[in-house]
Amino acid sequence: MIVERLVILGVGLIGGSLARAVRVAGACRQVIGWGRSPGTLQRALELGVVDEIEPNLASAVRGADLVVAAIPPGAMEGMFRELAKLLGPEVIITDVGSTKGSVVAAARAAFGALPPGFVPGHPIAGKENSGVEAADADLFRCKRVILTPLPETSPEAVAKVRALWECCGAEVSEMGVEHHDTVLAATSHLPHLLAFTLVDTLANMDDNWEIFRYAAGGFRDFTRIASSDPVMWRDICLANRVDLLAMLDRYNDGLQQVATAIAAGDGEYLYRIFGHARAAREHFLRLEKG
Ligand code: NAP
Repeated sequence: MIVERLVILGVGLIGGSLARAVRVAGACRQVIGWGRSPGTLQRALELGVVDEIEPNLASAVRGADLVVAAIPPGAMEGMFRELAKLLGPEVIITDVGSTKGSVVAAARAAFGALPPGFVPGHPIAGKENSGVEAADADLFRCKRVILTPLPETSPEAVAKVRALWECCGAEVSEMGVEHHDTVLAATSHLPHLLAFTLVDTLANMDDNWEIFRYAAGGFRDFTRIASSDPVMWRDICLANRVDLLAMLDRYNDGLQQVATAIAAGDGEYLYRIFGHARAAREHFLRLEKG
């Protein structure tokens, strides 16, 4: 048993999937779901995602040994302020937020001195569907989870959170907060921004119906993530704005060079860029397969 009483704050896609996975693994005696909407909590119980639901935050976290904040990044500070009033220093708190600098800043603002049991985390797994209905016990299997412990974080708390993710089938690594946000701006936040912006641009064209009618697999593949939750992605883009804008600048430079080559009829340049991109992607996919 890794944890006796695990409390999931926000039983949506990620919180619900974690709850399901730890229950399947038999890693916790009790998994409690807390949420702001009675309907979501009720559904979580009906679907067997959690053992119990508790709409009152103080009651939910009473006796908890590990609390997971699985709510949007923009809601973290308010939640941490409530937890600061309710939890003793022995309780481990982790989160699943897609940006880490903003979550750590929220924790510092809420707790003052960071509790040693605070372990920032981010599962690199997800899908475009959100909500408890999409919760999936296998979501984290063979996926990475990044923990970004701070100098204040206790090694015992990190070990406990690591064990929790590992029992869900995830591969856990650790890195610094800033490094996490730089890497994720490139690999996750920029692609979401591009997908949302492409679909919005096309949808604003007069003949958009005709355009979408003839959209094929390539368009579907490229824009799948534009079906993601707009509130969450608004929060993520604003929370990681410095790294995201730096990546956007780089990407704009690349696009500008491609546009210049197309205008000049420079097929050699295009062939080199596309060939390099294809080789790099295939290399990356091979590495991922192991
Ligand atoms: P989700 O399916 O929409 O679930 C979010 C949960 O948070 C819901 O239970 C929602 O409750 C609750 N919530 C929303 N706003 C809240 C607020 N202001 N106060 C309290 N609770 C609130 O979203 P998700 O995809 O699981 O995302 C949750 C976290 O996981 C985010 O921090 C996100 O950055 C991170 N994450 C997401 C992905 C992904 O691919 N989706 C991947 C990795 C990490 P209601 O049911 O009442 O709306």
